[in-house]
Amino acid sequence: MTPLAEVQAFVLDRCPPGPVIDTSFANAAGYVLAADVVADELVPPFANSAVDGYAVRAADLAGAGPESPVELPVVAEVPAGSHTDHVLQPGEAIRIMTGAPMPAGADAVVMVEDTERLDGGARVAIRAAVGEGAAIRPAGSDVTPGTRVFPAGAQVTPAVVGVLASINARTVAVRRRARVAVLATGDELVTDGGPLAPGQIRESNLSMLVACLADAGCNVDDFGVVPDDEEQLAAVLRQAAAECDAIVTSGGVSMGDYDVVKAVLSRIADMHWFQIAIKPAKPFAFGMLPVEGGMATPVFGLPGNPVSALVSFEMIARPALRQMMGHAQLGRPQVLAVCDDPIRRRRDGKLHLDRVVAEWRPDGRLHVSRGGSQGSHQLAATALANAIAEVPDGEGIDAGDELVVHLL
Ligand code: AMP
Ligand code: MG
Repeated sequence: MTPLAEVQAFVLDRCPPGPVIDTSFANAAGYVLAADVVADELVPPFANSAVDGYAVRAADLAGAGPESPVELPVVAEVPAGSHTDHVLQPGEAIRIMTGAPMPAGADAVVMVEDTERLDGGARVAIRAAVGEGAAIRPAGSDVTPGTRVFPAGAQVTPAVVGVLASINARTVAVRRRARVAVLATGDELVTDGGPLAPGQIRESNLSMLVACLADAGCNVDDFGVVPDDEEQLAAVLRQAAAECDAIVTSGGVSMGDYDVVKAVLSRIADMHWFQIAIKPAKPFAFGMLPVEGGMATPVFGLPGNPVSALVSFEMIARPALRQMMGHAQLGRPQVLAVCDDPIRRRRDGKLHLDRVVAEWRPDGRLHVSRGGSQGSHQLAATALANAIAEVPDGEGIDAGDELVVHLL
Protein backbone atom coordinates (compact mmCIF):
# COMPACT_ATOMS: atom_id res chain seq x y z
CA MET A 1 0.00 0.00 0.00
CA THR A 2 1.17 3.54 -0.78
CA PRO A 3 0.81 6.32 1.80
CA LEU A 4 -1.83 8.92 0.86
CA ALA A 5 0.70 11.79 0.86
CA GLU A 6 2.84 9.95 -1.68
CA VAL A 7 -0.09 9.44 -4.05
CA GLN A 8 -1.14 13.07 -3.63
CA ALA A 9 2.39 14.27 -4.46
CA PHE A 10 2.61 11.92 -7.46
CA VAL A 11 -0.67 13.24 -8.86
CA LEU A 12 0.06 16.93 -8.15
CA ASP A 13 3.37 16.59 -9.97
CA ARG A 14 1.48 15.67 -13.14
CA CYS A 15 -1.25 18.31 -12.94
CA PRO A 16 0.43 21.69 -13.52
CA PRO A 17 -1.50 24.97 -13.58
CA GLY A 18 -3.45 25.51 -16.81
CA PRO A 19 -3.40 28.40 -19.28
CA VAL A 20 -3.80 32.03 -18.28
CA ILE A 21 -6.59 34.19 -19.69
CA ASP A 22 -7.43 37.84 -19.23
CA THR A 23 -10.88 38.67 -17.95
CA SER A 24 -12.78 41.73 -16.92
CA PHE A 25 -12.78 42.27 -13.15
CA ALA A 26 -16.58 42.18 -13.18
CA ASN A 27 -16.50 38.67 -14.62
CA ALA A 28 -13.66 37.39 -12.45
CA ALA A 29 -15.56 36.00 -9.44
CA GLY A 30 -14.73 32.34 -8.87
CA TYR A 31 -11.55 32.43 -10.95
CA VAL A 32 -8.08 32.28 -9.45
CA LEU A 33 -5.57 35.09 -9.99
CA ALA A 34 -2.65 34.04 -12.18
CA ALA A 35 -0.48 37.03 -11.25
CA ASP A 36 -0.09 39.35 -8.29
CA VAL A 37 -2.42 42.34 -8.40
CA VAL A 38 -0.53 45.55 -7.63
CA ALA A 39 -2.49 48.76 -7.09
CA ASP A 40 -1.56 51.92 -8.94
CA GLU A 41 -4.19 54.15 -7.39
CA LEU A 42 -4.86 55.51 -3.91
CA VAL A 43 -7.96 54.23 -2.12
CA PRO A 44 -9.56 56.37 -0.96
CA PRO A 45 -8.24 58.87 -3.50
CA PHE A 46 -8.54 61.84 -1.09
CA ALA A 47 -8.99 62.43 2.66
CA ASN A 48 -12.70 62.33 3.39
CA SER A 49 -15.22 62.30 6.19
CA ALA A 50 -16.18 59.01 7.83
CA VAL A 51 -19.46 60.44 9.12
CA ASP A 52 -22.15 63.02 8.46
CA GLY A 53 -21.27 66.03 10.59
CA TYR A 54 -19.18 69.19 10.69
CA ALA A 55 -15.58 69.68 9.58
CA VAL A 56 -13.77 71.77 12.19
CA ARG A 57 -10.41 72.57 13.74
CA ALA A 58 -10.12 70.29 16.78
CA ALA A 59 -8.51 73.12 18.74
CA ASP A 60 -11.71 75.21 18.44
CA LEU A 61 -13.67 72.59 20.39
CA ALA A 62 -11.41 72.37 23.45
CA GLY A 63 -13.73 72.17 26.46
CA ALA A 64 -16.88 71.46 24.44
CA GLY A 65 -19.28 69.09 26.24
CA PRO A 66 -22.95 68.35 26.82
CA GLU A 67 -23.20 71.23 29.31
CA SER A 68 -20.80 73.56 27.53
CA PRO A 69 -21.53 73.60 23.80
CA VAL A 70 -19.32 75.55 21.43
CA GLU A 71 -21.22 77.58 18.80
CA LEU A 72 -19.67 78.08 15.36
CA PRO A 73 -20.88 79.68 12.11
CA VAL A 74 -21.47 77.17 9.30
CA VAL A 75 -19.71 78.67 6.28
CA ALA A 76 -20.18 75.98 3.62
CA GLU A 77 -21.74 72.60 2.92
CA VAL A 78 -20.02 69.64 1.15
CA PRO A 79 -22.10 66.65 0.03
CA ALA A 80 -20.32 63.50 -1.23
CA GLY A 81 -19.24 63.95 -4.84
CA SER A 82 -18.61 67.69 -4.47
CA HIS A 83 -15.93 69.80 -2.80
CA THR A 84 -15.37 73.28 -1.41
CA ASP A 85 -12.56 75.70 -2.18
CA HIS A 86 -13.21 77.52 1.08
CA VAL A 87 -10.25 77.18 3.44
CA LEU A 88 -11.65 76.67 6.93
CA GLN A 89 -10.61 79.51 9.23
CA PRO A 90 -10.30 79.32 13.03
CA GLY A 91 -13.76 79.50 14.61
CA GLU A 92 -15.63 78.14 11.54
CA ALA A 93 -17.48 74.90 10.78
CA ILE A 94 -18.35 73.32 7.43
CA ARG A 95 -21.31 70.94 7.08
CA ILE A 96 -19.91 67.71 5.57
CA MET A 97 -21.38 64.36 4.52
CA THR A 98 -19.89 60.86 4.65
CA GLY A 99 -17.38 60.43 1.82
CA ALA A 100 -17.08 64.15 1.01
CA PRO A 101 -13.51 65.50 0.72
CA MET A 102 -12.08 67.25 3.77
CA PRO A 103 -11.91 71.02 3.30
CA ALA A 104 -8.47 72.58 3.61
CA GLY A 105 -7.89 74.00 7.08
CA ALA A 106 -10.10 71.42 8.84
CA ASP A 107 -8.42 68.70 10.90
CA ALA A 108 -11.37 66.79 12.38
CA VAL A 109 -15.05 66.00 11.92
CA VAL A 110 -17.69 66.07 14.65
CA MET A 111 -20.54 63.68 14.02
CA VAL A 112 -23.97 65.15 13.58
CA GLU A 113 -25.27 63.26 16.64
CA ASP A 114 -23.10 65.54 18.84
CA THR A 115 -24.42 68.73 17.28
CA GLU A 116 -27.53 70.92 17.04
CA ARG A 117 -28.47 73.08 14.06
CA LEU A 118 -29.10 76.71 14.95
CA ASP A 119 -30.57 79.60 12.92
CA GLY A 120 -31.82 77.34 10.12
CA GLY A 121 -28.35 75.87 9.63
CA ALA A 122 -26.38 79.13 9.65
CA ARG A 123 -24.79 78.15 12.95
CA VAL A 124 -24.13 74.92 14.87
CA ALA A 125 -23.85 74.09 18.56
CA ILE A 126 -21.27 71.34 19.17
CA ARG A 127 -21.53 69.31 22.38
CA ALA A 128 -18.37 67.18 22.18
CA ALA A 129 -14.65 67.81 21.84
CA VAL A 130 -12.76 65.76 19.24
CA GLY A 131 -9.11 64.91 18.72
CA GLU A 132 -7.15 65.92 15.63
CA GLY A 133 -7.90 63.50 12.80
CA ALA A 134 -11.21 62.36 14.31
CA ALA A 135 -13.59 60.79 11.75
CA ILE A 136 -11.21 61.49 8.86
CA ARG A 137 -10.33 58.69 6.45
CA PRO A 138 -6.90 59.64 5.10
CA ALA A 139 -6.10 59.33 1.39
CA GLY A 140 -4.65 55.86 0.72
CA SER A 141 -5.76 54.50 4.11
CA ASP A 142 -7.16 51.40 2.34
CA VAL A 143 -4.68 50.95 -0.53
CA THR A 144 -1.62 52.86 -1.72
CA PRO A 145 0.02 52.67 -5.18
CA GLY A 146 2.57 49.86 -5.31
CA THR A 147 0.72 47.76 -2.74
CA ARG A 148 0.40 44.09 -3.71
CA VAL A 149 -3.27 43.78 -2.83
CA PHE A 150 -3.65 40.12 -3.88
CA PRO A 151 -1.10 37.38 -4.55
CA ALA A 152 -1.24 35.00 -7.50
CA GLY A 153 -3.17 31.92 -6.44
CA ALA A 154 -5.87 33.81 -4.54
CA GLN A 155 -9.44 33.04 -5.46
CA VAL A 156 -11.50 35.99 -6.64
CA THR A 157 -14.24 36.36 -4.04
CA PRO A 158 -17.01 38.98 -4.18
CA ALA A 159 -14.91 41.24 -1.92
CA VAL A 160 -11.91 40.82 -4.24
CA VAL A 161 -14.11 41.91 -7.17
CA GLY A 162 -14.98 45.02 -5.16
CA VAL A 163 -11.34 45.83 -4.50
CA LEU A 164 -10.44 45.29 -8.17
CA ALA A 165 -13.14 47.83 -9.04
CA SER A 166 -11.89 50.26 -6.37
CA ILE A 167 -8.32 50.24 -7.70
CA ASN A 168 -9.50 50.38 -11.33
CA ALA A 169 -7.94 47.03 -12.25
CA ARG A 170 -10.18 46.68 -15.28
CA THR A 171 -8.64 43.44 -16.53
CA VAL A 172 -7.03 40.67 -14.51
CA ALA A 173 -5.03 37.57 -15.45
CA VAL A 174 -6.71 34.40 -14.19
CA ARG A 175 -6.37 30.68 -14.83
CA ARG A 176 -8.85 29.19 -17.22
CA ARG A 177 -11.33 26.88 -15.49
CA ALA A 178 -10.46 23.22 -16.06
CA ARG A 179 -12.84 21.45 -18.40
CA VAL A 180 -13.31 18.02 -16.88
CA ALA A 181 -14.86 14.95 -18.48
CA VAL A 182 -16.69 12.60 -16.16
CA LEU A 183 -17.98 9.11 -16.91
CA ALA A 184 -19.16 6.04 -15.05
CA THR A 185 -18.74 2.40 -15.91
CA GLY A 186 -20.55 -0.71 -14.77
CA ASP A 187 -23.14 -2.89 -16.48
CA GLU A 188 -25.23 -2.96 -13.29
CA LEU A 189 -25.99 0.76 -13.45
CA VAL A 190 -29.43 2.12 -14.33
CA THR A 191 -29.84 5.80 -15.20
CA ASP A 192 -33.29 6.07 -16.77
CA GLY A 193 -35.39 5.91 -13.62
CA GLY A 194 -37.01 2.65 -14.72
CA PRO A 195 -37.56 -0.48 -12.62
CA LEU A 196 -34.48 -2.41 -11.53
CA ALA A 197 -33.91 -5.85 -13.01
CA PRO A 198 -32.22 -8.43 -10.74
CA GLY A 199 -28.64 -7.37 -10.07
CA GLN A 200 -29.13 -3.78 -11.21
CA ILE A 201 -28.66 -0.67 -9.07
CA ARG A 202 -29.28 3.00 -9.64
CA GLU A 203 -26.34 4.97 -10.91
CA SER A 204 -25.37 7.61 -8.35
CA ASN A 205 -21.67 8.44 -8.71
CA LEU A 206 -22.00 10.30 -11.97
CA SER A 207 -24.51 12.82 -10.67
CA MET A 208 -22.51 13.16 -7.46
CA LEU A 209 -19.24 13.74 -9.32
CA VAL A 210 -20.83 16.26 -11.69
CA ALA A 211 -21.85 18.20 -8.57
CA CYS A 212 -18.41 17.77 -6.97
CA LEU A 213 -16.71 19.11 -10.09
CA ALA A 214 -19.05 22.06 -10.45
CA ASP A 215 -18.54 22.84 -6.77
CA ALA A 216 -14.77 22.76 -7.30
CA GLY A 217 -15.14 25.43 -10.01
CA CYS A 218 -14.64 23.14 -13.04
CA ASN A 219 -16.59 23.15 -16.27
CA VAL A 220 -18.07 19.68 -16.50
CA ASP A 221 -18.51 17.48 -19.56
CA ASP A 222 -20.82 14.60 -18.64
CA PHE A 223 -20.09 11.55 -20.82
CA GLY A 224 -22.65 9.41 -18.98
CA VAL A 225 -22.45 5.70 -18.26
CA VAL A 226 -20.25 4.00 -20.83
CA PRO A 227 -21.15 0.37 -21.62
CA ASP A 228 -18.65 -2.39 -20.83
CA ASP A 229 -17.33 -2.51 -24.34
CA GLU A 230 -13.62 -2.00 -24.91
CA GLU A 231 -13.83 -0.26 -28.26
CA GLN A 232 -16.61 2.06 -27.16
CA LEU A 233 -14.87 2.94 -23.91
CA ALA A 234 -11.56 3.56 -25.68
CA ALA A 235 -13.28 5.88 -28.15
CA VAL A 236 -15.02 7.85 -25.40
CA LEU A 237 -11.82 8.18 -23.39
CA ARG A 238 -9.84 9.36 -26.42
CA GLN A 239 -12.49 11.92 -27.28
CA ALA A 240 -12.60 13.11 -23.66
CA ALA A 241 -8.80 13.38 -23.57
CA ALA A 242 -8.75 15.46 -26.75
CA GLU A 243 -11.54 17.81 -25.66
CA CYS A 244 -10.94 18.17 -21.92
CA ASP A 245 -8.20 19.10 -19.47
CA ALA A 246 -8.82 16.09 -17.22
CA ILE A 247 -10.93 12.94 -17.04
CA VAL A 248 -12.64 11.51 -13.97
CA THR A 249 -13.92 7.94 -14.17
CA SER A 250 -15.92 5.93 -11.64
CA GLY A 251 -15.59 2.19 -11.13
CA GLY A 252 -13.42 -0.69 -12.23
CA VAL A 253 -10.13 0.16 -10.55
CA SER A 254 -10.14 -2.42 -7.75
CA MET A 255 -7.42 -4.97 -7.13
CA GLY A 256 -7.91 -8.09 -9.19
CA ASP A 257 -10.78 -6.52 -11.07
CA TYR A 258 -10.91 -7.59 -14.64
CA ASP A 259 -12.86 -4.66 -15.77
CA VAL A 260 -12.99 -2.98 -19.16
CA VAL A 261 -11.85 0.27 -17.56
CA LYS A 262 -8.69 -1.42 -16.40
CA ALA A 263 -8.15 -3.25 -19.66
CA VAL A 264 -8.69 -0.17 -21.80
CA LEU A 265 -6.82 2.37 -19.68
CA SER A 266 -3.87 -0.02 -19.30
CA ARG A 267 -3.71 -0.23 -23.05
CA ILE A 268 -4.21 3.39 -24.13
CA ALA A 269 -2.84 5.40 -21.17
CA ASP A 270 0.22 5.45 -18.95
CA MET A 271 -1.55 4.29 -15.79
CA HIS A 272 -0.61 3.72 -12.15
CA TRP A 273 -2.88 1.42 -10.17
CA PHE A 274 -2.55 2.39 -6.53
CA GLN A 275 -3.52 0.65 -3.36
CA ILE A 276 -3.57 3.62 -1.01
CA ALA A 277 -3.09 3.09 2.73
CA ILE A 278 -6.46 4.64 3.56
CA LYS A 279 -9.95 3.44 4.32
CA PRO A 280 -12.23 3.98 2.47
CA ALA A 281 -10.91 4.55 -1.07
CA LYS A 282 -7.99 2.13 -1.12
CA PRO A 283 -8.08 1.45 -4.89
CA PHE A 284 -7.27 4.44 -7.03
CA ALA A 285 -5.87 4.82 -10.52
CA PHE A 286 -4.08 7.76 -12.02
CA GLY A 287 -2.44 8.17 -15.37
CA MET A 288 -1.85 10.25 -18.45
CA LEU A 289 -3.77 9.63 -21.65
CA PRO A 290 -1.71 10.72 -24.69
CA VAL A 291 -3.37 13.11 -27.11
CA GLU A 292 -2.19 13.26 -30.72
CA GLY A 293 -0.42 16.55 -31.31
CA GLY A 294 -1.10 17.78 -27.77
CA MET A 295 -0.35 17.36 -24.11
CA ALA A 296 -1.42 14.14 -22.39
CA THR A 297 -4.58 14.41 -20.29
CA PRO A 298 -4.61 13.33 -16.64
CA VAL A 299 -7.09 10.57 -15.80
CA PHE A 300 -8.42 10.10 -12.26
CA GLY A 301 -9.77 6.58 -11.86
CA LEU A 302 -12.01 6.67 -8.83
CA PRO A 303 -13.37 3.49 -7.23
CA GLY A 304 -17.02 2.62 -7.79
CA ASN A 305 -18.15 2.40 -4.19
CA PRO A 306 -19.89 5.74 -3.75
CA VAL A 307 -18.26 6.74 -0.44
CA SER A 308 -14.85 5.73 -1.81
CA ALA A 309 -15.45 7.75 -4.97
CA LEU A 310 -16.33 10.79 -2.87
CA VAL A 311 -13.37 10.43 -0.50
CA SER A 312 -10.81 9.93 -3.27
CA PHE A 313 -12.27 12.87 -5.17
CA GLU A 314 -11.90 15.02 -2.04
CA MET A 315 -8.43 13.87 -1.04
CA ILE A 316 -6.75 13.49 -4.44
CA ALA A 317 -8.67 14.69 -7.49
CA ARG A 318 -9.99 17.96 -6.07
CA PRO A 319 -6.59 19.28 -4.89
CA ALA A 320 -5.08 18.38 -8.29
CA LEU A 321 -7.88 20.10 -10.21
CA ARG A 322 -7.50 23.14 -7.97
CA GLN A 323 -3.80 23.22 -8.79
CA MET A 324 -4.66 23.14 -12.50
CA MET A 325 -6.94 26.13 -11.92
CA GLY A 326 -4.17 28.02 -10.15
CA HIS A 327 -5.25 27.85 -6.51
CA ALA A 328 -2.50 28.37 -3.94
CA GLN A 329 -4.66 26.61 -1.33
CA LEU A 330 -5.24 23.08 -2.64
CA GLY A 331 -6.88 21.16 0.19
CA ARG A 332 -9.83 21.87 2.41
CA PRO A 333 -9.12 23.85 5.58
CA GLN A 334 -7.76 21.56 8.30
CA VAL A 335 -8.34 22.05 12.01
CA LEU A 336 -7.97 20.11 15.22
CA ALA A 337 -11.28 19.00 16.70
CA VAL A 338 -12.36 17.20 19.85
CA CYS A 339 -13.93 13.82 19.22
CA ASP A 340 -16.95 13.36 21.47
CA ASP A 341 -17.24 9.59 21.07
CA PRO A 342 -14.54 6.96 21.25
CA ILE A 343 -13.62 5.50 17.86
CA ARG A 344 -12.54 1.86 17.94
CA ARG A 345 -10.64 0.42 15.00
CA ARG A 346 -8.12 -2.30 14.19
CA ARG A 347 -4.48 -1.76 13.31
CA ASP A 348 -4.45 -2.37 9.54
CA GLY A 349 -1.70 -0.12 8.21
CA LYS A 350 -4.27 2.40 6.95
CA LEU A 351 -5.24 5.91 7.81
CA HIS A 352 -9.00 5.86 8.35
CA LEU A 353 -10.88 8.79 6.88
CA ASP A 354 -14.13 8.86 8.83
CA ARG A 355 -16.95 11.09 7.74
CA VAL A 356 -18.04 13.16 10.72
CA VAL A 357 -20.34 15.96 11.72
CA ALA A 358 -18.35 18.92 13.07
CA GLU A 359 -19.94 21.62 15.15
CA TRP A 360 -18.76 24.60 17.20
CA ARG A 361 -19.76 24.33 20.86
CA PRO A 362 -19.98 27.01 23.55
CA ASP A 363 -16.61 25.87 24.93
CA GLY A 364 -15.16 27.56 21.85
CA ARG A 365 -13.90 24.33 20.31
CA LEU A 366 -14.87 22.33 17.28
CA HIS A 367 -16.42 18.99 18.23
CA VAL A 368 -16.95 16.04 15.95
CA SER A 369 -19.20 13.04 16.19
CA ARG A 370 -19.22 10.19 13.77
CA GLY A 371 -21.95 10.90 11.24
CA GLY A 372 -23.27 7.38 10.84
CA SER A 373 -22.38 4.04 9.33
CA GLN A 374 -18.93 4.12 7.76
CA GLY A 375 -19.31 1.44 5.07
CA SER A 376 -18.02 2.44 1.66
CA HIS A 377 -21.41 1.73 0.05
CA GLN A 378 -23.36 3.69 2.68
CA LEU A 379 -23.53 7.06 0.99
CA ALA A 380 -26.67 8.15 2.81
CA ALA A 381 -24.84 7.96 6.13
CA THR A 382 -22.02 10.06 4.71
CA ALA A 383 -24.07 12.63 2.86
CA LEU A 384 -24.78 14.88 5.85
CA ALA A 385 -21.22 14.76 7.18
CA ASN A 386 -19.45 18.12 6.90
CA ALA A 387 -15.93 16.96 7.61
CA ILE A 388 -13.49 14.11 7.09
CA ALA A 389 -11.58 13.06 10.22
CA GLU A 390 -8.17 11.38 10.17
CA VAL A 391 -8.17 8.41 12.54
CA PRO A 392 -4.53 7.27 12.64
CA ASP A 393 -3.57 3.61 12.40
CA GLY A 394 -3.88 1.86 15.77
CA GLU A 395 -6.57 0.81 18.20
CA GLY A 396 -8.60 4.00 17.81
CA ILE A 397 -9.10 7.02 19.99
CA ASP A 398 -10.86 7.83 23.24
CA ALA A 399 -13.65 10.30 23.78
CA GLY A 400 -12.10 13.74 24.30
CA ASP A 401 -9.07 13.02 22.09
CA GLU A 402 -8.19 15.43 19.32
CA LEU A 403 -8.31 14.61 15.61
CA VAL A 404 -7.28 16.42 12.43
CA VAL A 405 -10.40 17.13 10.40
CA HIS A 406 -10.79 18.42 6.85
CA LEU A 407 -13.76 20.79 6.71
CA LEU A 408 -15.85 20.10 3.63
P1 AMP B 1 -16.29 -1.22 -8.85
O1 AMP B 1 -15.31 -0.21 -8.34
O2 AMP B 1 -16.65 -1.01 -10.26
O3 AMP B 1 -15.81 -2.62 -8.56
O4 AMP B 1 -17.63 -1.01 -8.03
C1 AMP B 1 -17.66 -1.16 -6.62
C2 AMP B 1 -19.08 -1.04 -6.12
O5 AMP B 1 -19.58 0.25 -6.42
C3 AMP B 1 -20.06 -2.02 -6.72
O6 AMP B 1 -20.96 -2.38 -5.72
C4 AMP B 1 -20.75 -1.19 -7.79
O7 AMP B 1 -22.04 -1.66 -8.08
C5 AMP B 1 -20.79 0.16 -7.15
N1 AMP B 1 -20.81 1.21 -8.16
C6 AMP B 1 -19.93 1.31 -9.20
N2 AMP B 1 -20.19 2.40 -9.95
C7 AMP B 1 -21.28 2.99 -9.39
C8 AMP B 1 -22.04 4.14 -9.73
N3 AMP B 1 -21.71 4.90 -10.77
N4 AMP B 1 -23.09 4.46 -8.93
C9 AMP B 1 -23.40 3.69 -7.86
N5 AMP B 1 -22.71 2.61 -7.50
C10 AMP B 1 -21.67 2.24 -8.25
MG1 MG C 1 -17.59 -2.01 -11.78
